[in-house]
Amino acid sequence: MSGSSQDADIVVVGLGAWGACALWQLARRGARVIGVERYGLAGPHGSSYGESRMFRTACLEHPGLVPLAQRSRHLWQELERDSGAHLLDATGAMLIGPPDGRIVGGALRAAKEHGLDIEVLEERELRRRAPAHDGLAPGDIGVVEPAGGLTLPEMTIRAAVGAARSAGAEVLTETRVVALEFTGSGVAVHTATGRVLRAGQAVVTAGPWLSQLVPSLPLEVVRMPTTWFTPARPHGRFTLRRLPVFMRELDGGDVIWGHGVLPGGTELKLGLEDGGRHFATVDIESVDRSVSPADWSVLAKHLAGAVPGVGEAPTRAVANVYARTPDGQFVIGRPGRDARLLVAGGCNSHGFKHSTGIGEVVADLALGKEPAVPLGFTDPDRF
Ligand SMILES: Cc1cc2nc3c(=O)[nH]c(=O)nc-3n(C[C@H](O)[C@H](O)[C@H](O)COP(=O)(O)OP(=O)(O)OC[C@H]3O[C@@H](n4cnc5c(N)ncnc54)[C@H](O)[C@@H]3O)c2cc1C
Repeated sequence: MSGSSQDADIVVVGLGAWGACALWQLARRGARVIGVERYGLAGPHGSSYGESRMFRTACLEHPGLVPLAQRSRHLWQELERDSGAHLLDATGAMLIGPPDGRIVGGALRAAKEHGLDIEVLEERELRRRAPAHDGLAPGDIGVVEPAGGLTLPEMTIRAAVGAARSAGAEVLTETRVVALEFTGSGVAVHTATGRVLRAGQAVVTAGPWLSQLVPSLPLEVVRMPTTWFTPARPHGRFTLRRLPVFMRELDGGDVIWGHGVLPGGTELKLGLEDGGRHFATVDIESVDRSVSPADWSVLAKHLAGAVPGVGEAPTRAVANVYARTPDGQFVIGRPGRDARLLVAGGCNSHGFKHSTGIGEVVADLALGKEPAVPLGFTDPDRF
């Protein structure tokens, strides 16, 4: 595919979850590919950090994402086989709130449109099945997706990069890409170490840094804390089995999310969804990585009524970041239809569950194939 003067067919810039999966998919199909990561693999700087992520196919964010999540589940199983790692735990996923609300209403719509296997729990049954949830509003229901559950971000990145390496990919870590220079025949990827990688095209999967390299994309970076709580008194209602991964819309519209204690652990993970009203947009190069009570004051107030008994302050917290687009959907494709550039970003904090599927779509597009899942609504030129 590439001329002999090129170092690779494709350079993948940024090896978070999406870039790692794109690298894996490209390498296993025989593309000559180099992956470049600014930091070490699976570190705390980007969006793919924090040990767990919710997996569900009832995609309330856009019905068109359901096939992508379904394909992703299948590819996760392939990655588990390729890597020998256990990466997706189908312990069930639960969405709670008013039936016509954004969370439950959106999930019901997606489930109906795609005939998904879900269970609807009326309030009484919901209380019985997930007793840690208190203060339910009258009429709140639960939607359980038995095949949903938890995915593991850091392990997924390591597994995908490992599988890509085994399939022949070159991987450069601690290497920052500082510029993309487009030439007649491809792209020169300039790195801070002075090495220039020449390739037919660049795939930019730089998460919250994406618009540094592709400034035409209208991305904002949001700082979003993640917090873990340790109940003073451990209780069966806080185990993962009784408190599976959830999103819950509260009276007033705020959404909390999290999951119970993993086997062998002591902490619950609980957080507040941004919803566009809680967390600040930041400059990714100067974002404050320290955390303070201001980061969990709204969450703590909600938890006192909604999930009581978990403690007033987290025992662990980190400041995560993610990239937001004006319409809440991803940007995947070729800006300006340029054959030398492909982007995948703008995760809007709901993109991890699609990582393996996005890796495949990116590989399809890069290799000139019809994407396995149609994602026209993510066209980067739509703004
Ligand atoms: C707190 C939080 C909770 C979330 N919960 C969920 C959930 O439950 N379910 C779900 O599906 N999704 C969830 N998400 C979203 C999900 O985590 C992201 O969609 C996913 O991790 C996006 O990964 P990414 O590869 O696009 O970005 P990143 O993981 O940020 O990867 C980008 C990579 O590019 C590298 N990079 C940047 N610039 C350069 C450069 N110039 N040169 C070289 N490398 C560079 C970075 O170092 C980084 O490693 C959540 C997000 C957050 C923040």
